[in-house]
Amino acid sequence: MLKNCIFCKIVKNELLSQKVYEDESVFAFKDINPQAPVHVIIIPKKHITSLSVISVENEKVLGHIQVTVSRIAKQFSELKNGFRLINNCGVEGGQTVLHLHYHLLGGRSFRWPPG
Ligand code: AMP
Ligand code: ZN
Repeated sequence: MLKNCIFCKIVKNELLSQKVYEDESVFAFKDINPQAPVHVIIIPKKHITSLSVISVENEKVLGHIQVTVSRIAKQFSELKNGFRLINNCGVEGGQTVLHLHYHLLGGRSFRWPPG
């Protein structure tokens, strides 16, 4: 846990969130500034800064997140025809919160390539 990290605070319930999923290693909550009808942020409970600093010891939780994605998606009828999963990594990737997270977006169609 990192003291001044907002997502660590959400995991510890020091900052309120709209939780949609929680287990021993993963936490998911609604994005405060949704970019689609469904916009969920999925994070490892353990503080990891970004995908660029992961190591082999993070394999288990990152693999587990992939499994939770489909579990979370099933909670939302809007995602029955598909969804988009995004990780913004580093400055050029558009990452603003330095606690590794995935955006699960859906309920509308998306264009490719992204902006
Ligand atoms: P990124 O730009 O990929 O780092 O995404 C960070 C995301 O976290 C943005 O979509 C924000 O809207 C979202 N966010 C920031 N603070 C909160 C919060 N307190 N509760 C929920 N979502 C948040
Ligand atoms: Zn953190």
